[in-house]
Amino acid sequence: MMAMNIERFVSEGKGNGLRALRELKAGEVIHSCEPYAFCIAKDFLKTACHSCLQRGESLSRCSQCKTARYCSVQCQKQAWPDHKRECKCLKRLQPRIPTDSVRLLTRIIFKLLAQSESDQEDLYSIAEHQSHLADMSEEKKEGLRQLCTTLQLYLGEENHDLSQLPPGLDPISLLARVTCNCFSISDGELQDVGVGLYPSMSLLNHDCQPNCVMIFEGKRLTLRAVRLIRPCEELTISYTDILATSKERRSHLQEQYHFLCQCTRCTTEDKDCDMLAGEKTAWRSLRDAIPHLEQLQSEQRWEELLKESQALLHRYTDVVPDRNIYVLRLLDLAMDACISLDDYETALEYGNRALEPYKLYYSDPHPSRAVELLRVGKLQHFLGRLEEARGSFTQAYDIMKVTHGTDHVLTNEVRRKLSECQAELGQV
Ligand SMILES: [Zn+2]
Ligand SMILES: [Zn+2]
Ligand SMILES: [Zn+2]
Repeated sequence: MMAMNIERFVSEGKGNGLRALRELKAGEVIHSCEPYAFCIAKDFLKTACHSCLQRGESLSRCSQCKTARYCSVQCQKQAWPDHKRECKCLKRLQPRIPTDSVRLLTRIIFKLLAQSESDQEDLYSIAEHQSHLADMSEEKKEGLRQLCTTLQLYLGEENHDLSQLPPGLDPISLLARVTCNCFSISDGELQDVGVGLYPSMSLLNHDCQPNCVMIFEGKRLTLRAVRLIRPCEELTISYTDILATSKERRSHLQEQYHFLCQCTRCTTEDKDCDMLAGEKTAWRSLRDAIPHLEQLQSEQRWEELLKESQALLHRYTDVVPDRNIYVLRLLDLAMDACISLDDYETALEYGNRALEPYKLYYSDPHPSRAVELLRVGKLQHFLGRLEEARGSFTQAYDIMKVTHGTDHVLTNEVRRKLSECQAELGQV
């Protein structure tokens, strides 16, 4: 059921959108829903439950496909209606596992086939979703055709059912709709553990300084206001990482979602000068080194990552300030490596340097800044710097009251940390 505080409307120059029907306060829950369909992200196939998306050490495998994994019998039972037909497909393609978008689309197709049109309660149906096929480059369309071939292999003999899909919903246009409209489902550490389709939420348009944020608990999505929203004001979220220059954000949005961002931040090139502060040739070398460093991070080659990121930081710190987004990215990578190598003192040094720039770029309450403060707070706490830790946890808590709400597991964790700090400070 859609709450009565929002409605669908046509937003000038943007097509369909959602707007507030009444005044909404910062931190207020605007909408909360389960996905129409979802699937686990490829990187977490073996490490997270395919039903509740919690990460776990000892997950049990589906005896049929040996691919789906669950943290409990209840989770396995609950997942079965969505997994039943998919299970056969997974078995057929072994050991290959299709991409997230193909697995998600297959679940959507099975659901569409099993469901009558009248079951749809959302403000926005899949048939209405934009495919943007006409705006796509030939290269992108070719990519979709290749995914379509995988889809057909994956579906096997169930392929003939595709003809029973509602008119206009052929596999290519469905794939295009899925890639433009699905959301990454992130966990408490902001890792993308899954991908899902939440039809009504696809109506939300983008802004580089949005007034709403989406937070997940498992696969449940909650939309909250991050500042005061006036009646009739359009609701927006950010589709892209805002730690990027207006040029980078615009080209990513154009490529992935097929529109030119006309938000205030993009049109005024807001904070671009800060993001690219420092000597140009120096930050360019940093920027160009990042893909390789991220590769080391994903392969968990921590010693190499630390050595290389430290060398770069050491070499360029005099000429490029910490608020430069490439230095900031490097600080996060170096901090990650230090934590994995148990060098908490150095990790804290890098974490502290990143805090001011984070504050500059995330001026509204934002989950990324809360998670950064939480990471720094934990390091300070571990190293016995209780006053500092209390400060970091308090700041994280103040943000999360708005972005996550007071009942979210992560907010509870911060509250617990904060009272531990208080208690230890009381004893000193
Ligand atoms: Zn589970
Ligand atoms: Zn299975
Ligand atoms: Zn923008």
